[in-house]
Amino acid sequence: MDKLILIKYGELTTKKANRKIFINMLEKNIKSILKDEKIEIQKDRVRMYIKSYSDIDSVVLKLQKVFGIHGIVVCEKTDNNIESIKNKILEILKTKKFNTFKINSKRADKKYPIHSMELNNIIGGFVLQNFNCTVDVHNPQLIINIEIRLEGTFIYCNEIKGAGGYPVGIQGKGLLMLSGGIDSPVAGYLALKRGVDIDCLYFESPPHTSVEAKNKVLKLASILNEYSGNVRVHVVPFTKIQEEIYKNVRDSYIITIMRRMMYRIASEYCKSHNFKIMINGESIGQVASQTLDSMIVINNVTNLPVIRPVACLDKLEIINLATKIGTYETSILPYEDCCTIFLPKHPVINPVLDKCLFYENSFDYQKLIDEAIKNIEIIDNFKSDYSDIL
Ligand code: ATP
Ligand code: MG
Repeated sequence: MDKLILIKYGELTTKKANRKIFINMLEKNIKSILKDEKIEIQKDRVRMYIKSYSDIDSVVLKLQKVFGIHGIVVCEKTDNNIESIKNKILEILKTKKFNTFKINSKRADKKYPIHSMELNNIIGGFVLQNFNCTVDVHNPQLIINIEIRLEGTFIYCNEIKGAGGYPVGIQGKGLLMLSGGIDSPVAGYLALKRGVDIDCLYFESPPHTSVEAKNKVLKLASILNEYSGNVRVHVVPFTKIQEEIYKNVRDSYIITIMRRMMYRIASEYCKSHNFKIMINGESIGQVASQTLDSMIVINNVTNLPVIRPVACLDKLEIINLATKIGTYETSILPYEDCCTIFLPKHPVINPVLDKCLFYENSFDYQKLIDEAIKNIEIIDNFKSDYSDIL
């Protein structure tokens, strides 16, 4: 094997006391995301090294989605003999265009007879002899990194940007209310990025919502799972509650009450299943149920923190993120969600709590909520391809 992947840790290096926990969590996540690849991991306080027996490009693509990684570097390996190092450098630099460079040597093997500074000089001189260029230690176009280790010498120039953020799971578990829309998958991605291990809660109302709508949500969850390796979808049968709402609630309050029911179910489920927070894709002012007045009345049914990662983003900013993370194309497929069926013409934008309580008193919603929670279906393995069922 003449290549090795070197992982540079992200923001976690600032958290000195928790460093070990962070690194172990990152290793666990890498193993989970690369579970189909044949790899070996070695780690120390500042780096992780991955030997890959699988296709290196596909491993790197997957690693680019692991939060907690600052940089990914594919190193070329040779033996520690100085002539071998020179030959390898010649081979690597032939493919590069540069006018200025700098050598950055490191001796992890402290017994190696040539010190880092001396090695910088030897290799620097060699590069100057063979290429038309000059040394610039302050602002070089190309940095040639050489790392001498017991098992061999690793050489690299380019660093691929990692996903940043914290290792997923470092903050514990959160429950994402995932619809088939554009916003909630982005909210899930942002929560994962801050280290929250998410599961998804999806409300379905068959036969008013289709099986395609459900598959669309599963597909979105499977995309989020590329950033986690640990996502499950909990599907809530919401039909009866929704039908009761339509029977008992004045048109303009239907959406408000429906969302209060969703929040009640999500909140109870979080408490019984050890999710610390609820997460959703609400964005201030986007629709009637997301005005501040609506949010207050809807939020009133739970005392759990409700995190809204896209609350202050414009739709265009959310769309850009959705495109970047790979959910947009799926989100815009046309299948209807339970929030979009029977949409009232004039949903209230400044609902009053007393009116909500009045409408809710007209049917035994708690019994329906208990029943819905009891019948939640958990889906924890995704198809690799949903195209034939969407
Ligand atoms: P999205 O926000 O996902 O694009 P949307 O814009 O249609 O969907 P709303 O219907 O107003 O948004 O819902 C706001 C948030 O409520 C969603 O972002 C999502 O977190 C949650 N939500 C809505 N419908 C559902 C559902 N059927 N299952 C789970 N969560 C839902
Ligand atoms: Mg939305």
